[in-house]
Amino acid sequence: MDLSLFFAGTAASVPSARRGLPALLIRRGAERILIDCGEGTQRQLVRSIGLAELTDVFLTHMHADHWLGLPGMLKSFELRDRELPLTVHGPPGMTALMERMRPIYGRPRYGLTLRDLEPGEVVRRDGFEIAAFAVRHRGVAHGYAVIEDDRPGRFDAVLAERLGVTPGPDFGRLQRGEVVDGVHPEQVVGEARRGRRVVVTGDTAPTDAVVVAAHRADVLVHESTFLHEDADRAAQTCHSTARQAAQIAADAEVGMLALTHVSARYPGGQIRDEARELFAATEVPRDFDTIDLPLPERGGPQLLRWEGGRPAAAAVADARS
Ligand SMILES: [Zn+2]
Ligand SMILES: [Zn+2]
Repeated sequence: MDLSLFFAGTAASVPSARRGLPALLIRRGAERILIDCGEGTQRQLVRSIGLAELTDVFLTHMHADHWLGLPGMLKSFELRDRELPLTVHGPPGMTALMERMRPIYGRPRYGLTLRDLEPGEVVRRDGFEIAAFAVRHRGVAHGYAVIEDDRPGRFDAVLAERLGVTPGPDFGRLQRGEVVDGVHPEQVVGEARRGRRVVVTGDTAPTDAVVVAAHRADVLVHESTFLHEDADRAAQTCHSTARQAAQIAADAEVGMLALTHVSARYPGGQIRDEARELFAATEVPRDFDTIDLPLPERGGPQLLRWEGGRPAAAAVADARS
């Protein structure tokens, strides 16, 4: 099952020539989940991977830079004769605000559901879930933890046969937890394998809530609006500095830290260098970059830069063929 994060917009507050407003597309199998939808997100997607058939949108909070692209996108889906239903989730107050936008997007025929989530609420999807948790920002704001179900442990067929189990239906019974011919499942089935986890903070000041939610996550996507020299401003506006985000990543023992919501006032390299002093596995994705999360036994998360209109890895693969 493939799992990747596509950074459709990585700017803080105002777009720059190189960075669009916040939007992160999570792709897992056929599912397409958008977290935040800043103004211009439609165009960012059309310019890169195309306007995906989203299944869900999760808004972190209702500051304009995080949702203003949504009414227009909902309208476009209607004009494109979309049929797949869509659910928009957000913190308490999201539904009321989106209802006030009805004159823009009307009542789409594809079936639009607006749903406020309380902190701790979980949205179940096939093979994974998305949990909302409260972060520390101005007004109510959620982070989201995308948590795959654990996979069953590895089945040792060679050992099972050596212990006298006949290949075929008996193998299935063992894997389902039954005792077969005196052989117990735990003799031939390994420990359950932890599902992959991605945690997205949205806007937040540093908070232990992220450390808890992101404990040993494969990827933490943390905002990094400021450099630490501007820590006072970060505190006043309930944002984080690169160093603070790196400390959270270290405390949570995540596999990779991806910094986003970066201000155009700093070069991305400075943000990255500051964070890497505390947490080496830090990346600062640019617009249209992808982080790929292979299954853990195939390696750790990897940043793929967007090059020449496609992800770098695809370019490499094409060059070989
Ligand atoms: Zn913001
Ligand atoms: Zn905000």
